[in-house]
Amino acid sequence: MYFPLQLRLTLFYALLLGLALWIFGSTVYSQAEQQVYLNLDNTLSSRAASVRLGKDLLSNQNSTNLPFALPSVDGLGSGGVSIEVLDNQLHLLATTTNTSNEGIQTGVAGLGDSPVPWDKQAAQWILQHPFSNNGNANSLYSTITYHGQRIRVYTLMNNDSGAGHIIQTARSEQNIKQSLSDLSLLLWRGGALLIILALSGGWLISWSVLSRVKHITKTARKISASRDISQRVPEKSRFGRDELTSLASTFNVMLASLDKVYQRQRRFVADASHELRAPITSIRCNLDLLAKAPDLPPEEAQAALIDARAEADRMGRLVNDLLVIARSDEAAQDVKSNGYRKNVNSAPTIDLDSLILDVYRQYKQTTLGDNVEIRQQGPRLMLQDITPAKVYGDADQLKQVLVALIDNALKYTPYEGFVTLSLTTDKRNAVIKVSDTGIGILPDDLPHIFERFYRADRARSRDRGGSGLGLTIVQNIVQEHGGNIEVESTPGRGSTFILNLPRASELN
Ligand code: ADP
Repeated sequence: MYFPLQLRLTLFYALLLGLALWIFGSTVYSQAEQQVYLNLDNTLSSRAASVRLGKDLLSNQNSTNLPFALPSVDGLGSGGVSIEVLDNQLHLLATTTNTSNEGIQTGVAGLGDSPVPWDKQAAQWILQHPFSNNGNANSLYSTITYHGQRIRVYTLMNNDSGAGHIIQTARSEQNIKQSLSDLSLLLWRGGALLIILALSGGWLISWSVLSRVKHITKTARKISASRDISQRVPEKSRFGRDELTSLASTFNVMLASLDKVYQRQRRFVADASHELRAPITSIRCNLDLLAKAPDLPPEEAQAALIDARAEADRMGRLVNDLLVIARSDEAAQDVKSNGYRKNVNSAPTIDLDSLILDVYRQYKQTTLGDNVEIRQQGPRLMLQDITPAKVYGDADQLKQVLVALIDNALKYTPYEGFVTLSLTTDKRNAVIKVSDTGIGILPDDLPHIFERFYRADRARSRDRGGSGLGLTIVQNIVQEHGGNIEVESTPGRGSTFILNLPRASELN
């Protein structure tokens, strides 16, 4: 069942608020009710006590002109309290007159004649129980209905003069009922107003939040439909910064990095196709030449074949490099999600010093691929400060790194120059340096040389068999080994590539 979050939040909020208001309102109402009834009872009992102490009652008790209106008592009758004094035969001795309807009998039907309402039952009960448990004059509160009105009556036994008197004070609950119903109306209206305000506030806030969530959802949907990762979700909110702003900006950062990866991937595919196209074209041209000109002089035919072969080799190397990069991309993903150190125990320990010496010897004595001639006549390769150091990792891959760096150094250094290898250690790392006194790298090129297919001097690099993938592979391998590679270079004076690899003891 679809139940929108905004409605759910608002309803829950309203329900909670309603409940809280209801508890608050009913507590206030019952406290107020209790208080006004207590006040009423206090008023009635204090009026009765005043009558009991009144001198007029005692001095006039033998008068034959009954019932008489007690002037002082009459005074007490103001404020809506009516008073009457009865003897022990329930004859009316004194009463307040009904001030608004002077002289008119207002007695309760069946209760006897009196200008004011009185409670005969309560009077009879008090006659039967004149004393309370502790021996004092007994008293009683009761409620009667008179002309549709509820009247509160207080009945008190007065034994002060010897013969028992009953004093009854009464007051209509009409005013109280009115004030209580006013209070309840006020509470209901106030509560309703609060709920409406809270509901509209809650609705507005949840709308402002959810509309942005909807916006983000819409943008995400649009992106997945159009595959256009350049779109961004709005980060700014009318209500300032909040959690959604950071969600939106995180979302945008994610989009930006996806966009970057996507662009990089596209550029990579374009570059790879471009790089492959050149040798294919060259091979095709050479083959066409051989096919179309069968009477080509043998030396030219031979040259065409050698050229085609060289291009095929170049293409082979390129495809090989691409495969290595694809594999190391996968491994880099693994390193990112698991970390190199997790697999460290399974990786063998390598003596870096022996590895460097091995590579050095190979360069010195034997042929290593195509560069043998360059090396025989080319720049001098030297060793410097070889400190013993162990690292965890793959010896073949680390050898590949060294060969790539030395190859580059030899490639970009004039014949009379030097290439130096060194291995030192610091607290954490084994530090390999491959320095040359070659052409150096321009500051503008320096930040890009590890990018795929980047070549500072395209034409020269290609002439020397470079594809622009060598340093990318080097960097990938070094990172897989938990290390990093830096380069320092001065154009015209030479470059130094510095490899930092965590030492075996440091990894544990
Ligand atoms: P390439 O196959 O073209 O050598 P690399 O990835 O190995 O590709 O190197 C990228 C670029 O970095 C090279 O084209 C070159 O311009 C520059 N470079 C690398 N090593 C050196 C070096 N030792 N001296 C000068 N330039 C270098």
